[in-house]
Formats: sequence, C-alpha cells, structure tokens
Amino acid sequence: MPKYARLKGTQDILPVEQPYWEHLRMRVAEIARAYGFERIDTPIFELTELFNRGVGDATDIVEKEMYAFKDRGGNEIALRPEFTAGVMRAYIENGMQVLPKPVKLYSIGPIFRHEQPQAGRYRQFHQFNAEILGVQDPLADLEIMLLAWDIYDSLGFQSLAFQVHSTGCPICRPQYVSLLAEHYRAHADAICDDCKRRVAVNPLRVLDCKQPQCQPIIAGAPKMLEHLCGECAAHFTKLRGYLEHLGKPHTINPRLVRGLDYYTKTVFEVWAEGIGAQAAVCGGGRYDGLIELLGGHPTPGVGFAAGMERAVMVMQAQHIAVPPLPAPLVFIAFLGDATARHAAQLLRALRQAGLGAQIAMGGSLRSQLRQADKSAARFTLIVGEDEIAQDVVTLRDMATGEQETAPLNGVAQTIVERLG
Ligand code: AMP
Repeated sequence: MPKYARLKGTQDILPVEQPYWEHLRMRVAEIARAYGFERIDTPIFELTELFNRGVGDATDIVEKEMYAFKDRGGNEIALRPEFTAGVMRAYIENGMQVLPKPVKLYSIGPIFRHEQPQAGRYRQFHQFNAEILGVQDPLADLEIMLLAWDIYDSLGFQSLAFQVHSTGCPICRPQYVSLLAEHYRAHADAICDDCKRRVAVNPLRVLDCKQPQCQPIIAGAPKMLEHLCGECAAHFTKLRGYLEHLGKPHTINPRLVRGLDYYTKTVFEVWAEGIGAQAAVCGGGRYDGLIELLGGHPTPGVGFAAGMERAVMVMQAQHIAVPPLPAPLVFIAFLGDATARHAAQLLRALRQAGLGAQIAMGGSLRSQLRQADKSAARFTLIVGEDEIAQDVVTLRDMATGEQETAPLNGVAQTIVERLG
C-alpha cells in the first residue's frame, strides 16, 4: 500500500486519458465560440453565502454536499458546487449588465460536492457550463439546448435524447405546489423520510425521489404541466415547437425539476447511452429570478452544466476515437558522454527553429532507441563521436525506417524538407 492515497471521490486523470479530455475541451471551446459564447473564469471558491442564496438553502447541494469552511482570515467560504452562482456574481460585480443583450458565457473547470461516490459520481469533478443572459424568449432556451446537443453530436455521441419539462413560475407554481403537498400529506404514511422533509422545505424535489416506496406516490401526483399559467404554457409550447421543427427528439419528463423559486419555466437534461444509471450528461434550465436575487437588475437567464467525467465515460463506452496528443517531432539519441553536449546543442537549435524535440536522458543506445520508439517522434537523430568529427548526424525517419546522414548545421532544414 502506498503511504498516501487519493481521497475518496477524487480521481487522477493520467496521461493515457488526457487525449479524451483535451478533445472534449477543444470541442467545447470551438463550438461555444462558433455559437457566440465568450469564456469566463471565476474563482474556485466564493463566500458560502453566495451559494446558499444562488443555489438555495433547501437544496441537497447546500444542505449536505458543500465543501464549506472557515478560512484562516475567518471568512466563511466554500469550494464551488456549481458554476452559475459565481458567474452571476461576476456578471453583476463587473458591470456586465450594461453589455448589449444577450450576454453569452461559458466556463470549464472543477466542481466540488461531498456526495456518495459511485461510477459517474465524484466529489471533485469537472463541468462545462454555459449561460445566456437577458433574453426571455424560448429561442434562448433552444440556443442553450442546441449548444449542449451539438457539442455531444460533434463528438460522435450516439443515442442522444433531450428530457424536457417546465417548472412554472412564481405565479403558477405556488398553487401547484400546494396541490402536490396535499397529495403527499394524504400519503404521509407511505413516503420516505427524505420526502416527508422535502414536502415541508422544497416540495418539488419529491418528484425526483429515487426511493422505491415513493414511486407509486409520484406516479399518482398532480402534473405541473396541467397547472402552468398561460405565459409558462405558451413558453413551453413554443420551445417544443422549435425542437420539433428542428427534428430534435425530446421526451417530456414530469419528474424533472429544480425546486427553487428563482428557477422558472424550462428544465432539461441531455441523456446519452453507455454509462448505466448516471445517464444524464447535462442538465440545465431557466432562472429568471436569480440575478435579481443576487442583487442585480432583474434579468432573465438560461443555462446548463455538463459533466466532463461522464462525457469521457460515454466516449470510452461508445468507442469514440480521439486524436492522439501532439508529441515532439524529433527524438535525439547520443553515444557516450563526449557527444552529450553536442546533442544538447542540437536540441536547442531544433527548438529555436520551431521544431518540437526531446533528448534521451542517458542510457545505452539501445535503451535510447527504445525510448525513441515509445516517444512517437517522427524522426530520431543519432549523435555519435565519428559523426561529430565530420559535422554530421544520422537522421532516421521512424515512419519508413529509412536512415540518412545529414549535415549537423542544416539538420532542421533537412527535417522540414523530409516533412514535405
Ligand atoms: P447538476 O449541476 O447537478 O445539474 O449536474 C449537471 C451535470 O454535471 C450532470 O448532468 C452530470 O453530468 C454532472 N455531475 C453532477 N454531479 C456530478 C458528480 N458528483 N460527479 C460527476 N459528474 C456530476
């Protein structure tokens, strides 16, 4: 057993897995930029209070999962358990409210939640996140959903599906919530302890309870969609119309909720096949009350957060090929101590000429050539004493196995020529 092990729920992302991560990050950035989203990076930690308000006191995230602590200055701070609250804080604090609307932002980075770890569920994980601020029309919901969809689609994900729902607004939701609470009170004996608590503090959340005993109660519960106000119903119908027009498969999922007052109207998830129970790769929705709640001017918003570990799991489960990461073009091997400084000089010259190069770190020529093979370099240069005496080196093309003698001074040029 090693003396130190990684903490429960954390992962090392080793070099062999990096091609998946790099490919995913590149795709996110390329497509987000092509769709008019600008990148924003906010701190990994913020005042705990921001998340209490911005995520909600009554959510599992805030109640049970936040890495919150007092720092050495006595400030109550927390590692971010999601992006949106921090991005909204930055939007307000940096005066971005005066920018022409919509403001379209994306972020990539680590997220922390003290959850029970399992496959696809970790305590430190990564998300890419996007937000559109300042647009009330469901066209913004569509745009945010298409961004998520097109990223997965461009990665080659098979069997993508949208799950959609509406959670109403402060006008229609309270009435629905009292009907729901009434239904639950009538079945108080049958529901789980968590739901007994949820009915009191965050009633919509009973709908996504996973306990078997609660399933028949959920099935018999009143449906939010039957209780939407005119505006919310029209918003949902319009969004569905857009999705249908674009031929995007979507399932109405009456159990999909965000149980807080400032989340409004649309909620959605993207599901992908191949990763078992944790099928949701992305979740999002509209939060028209959030910016105001955090002290900004009333501004509608819609966004999503997407798990990157789960996206990598899908890539692997669906056998999606990813390009290898670029390796140095040239590997330099050398024979004996006397040639080491010539080899080091050559290394510098190649790098200055803009060619990626690395050098063997000692060992027999045989072991150096093995390293060269492993390095995936296209060319190996062999520097020997006899060659140095004649101002030449041996240049081996690793793809064809062909070997030639090249002038020491013009070797960068020779390599460029051989590359065509
Ligand atoms: P949420 O912020 O809870 O709506 O989650 C958004 C997405 O982040 C989910 O669809 C998952 O892909 C991912 N995700 C959420 N929690 C975790 C976790 N503990 N570990 C890994 N991925 C997660």
